[in-house]
Amino acid sequence: MQTVHALDPLRNAVAGLRAAGPVALVPTMGALHDGHLTLVREARRHAASVVVSIFVNPLQFGANEDLDAYPRQMERDSRLLEAEGVDLLWAPTAQAMYPPGFASTISVTGVSEGLCGTARPGHFDGVATVVCKLFNQVMPDVALFGEKDWQQLSVIRRMARDLDLTRPAANAILGVPTVREADGLAMSSRNAYLTPQQRAKAVALPTAMRRAIAQIEAGADVPSSLARLKSDVLEGGFGSLDYAELREADDLGELHAVITKPMRLLVAARIGTTRLIDNMAVKPAQAPEAA
Ligand code: AMP
Repeated sequence: MQTVHALDPLRNAVAGLRAAGPVALVPTMGALHDGHLTLVREARRHAASVVVSIFVNPLQFGANEDLDAYPRQMERDSRLLEAEGVDLLWAPTAQAMYPPGFASTISVTGVSEGLCGTARPGHFDGVATVVCKLFNQVMPDVALFGEKDWQQLSVIRRMARDLDLTRPAANAILGVPTVREADGLAMSSRNAYLTPQQRAKAVALPTAMRRAIAQIEAGADVPSSLARLKSDVLEGGFGSLDYAELREADDLGELHAVITKPMRLLVAARIGTTRLIDNMAVKPAQAPEAA
């Protein structure tokens, strides 16, 4: 595996890979876990070469967020990627990504509003801007993102459609299902912040979500199912909830009274100082049998 930290060597390395066939990109912020490595393995199925980027993007962190504390484990990450047969690790310096005078931002309205967009103002502008740069730097044929960050995936697809991106095209932005720990907690680099006691309690989040989904799919009233979810999560040991919402899966549109489309339950909650997010599919409730 080749590792590069600046744009010129990156472009040379990618040109070499492109000669061998399609190139896949997996953008990450490092502190890799099995969720990331699943994206890497999936990438291999779609391309001849796999490029992984590791960049803790300051633009997507708010002033009071965990940019400085965010885990950085470059040597360990590098070994893991090498073992997966990754061809190229793109690990730009902040200086390479945002040289002095950098002044441009990509802002995707609509789908980036609400949910994490409300809880983390400016976050998705930072995500869209860095992902657009990564796309232009690597020019991959296909790019892979986790469904774990469902709103982020929706924002990136919207950006690719709206800006007529071609490398990758919007339909070559692939979502990969969330990889979970054995007890159901979604894998996340931020799980490393949890004390053993908090980690044990964190399972309350996916457990409460599955319970709410079973109720909603069985035809229960949505507001009361969400209210129950909130109390389950708080009683389970979380300190607060940023949101728990049922939205249309494809564009995160607000739901109307009769639910006929595939939906997504999206939740963000805080345990101690750690903010965890999760989302799961929800099928429309079974229509009652016609008499
Ligand atoms: P991050 O390093 O947190 O920015 O994540 C990099 C990529 O890995 C994003 O596309 C995430 O959605 C994805 N990812 C993170 N956690 C998981 C997970 N548990 N399962 C699947 N993909 C994930």
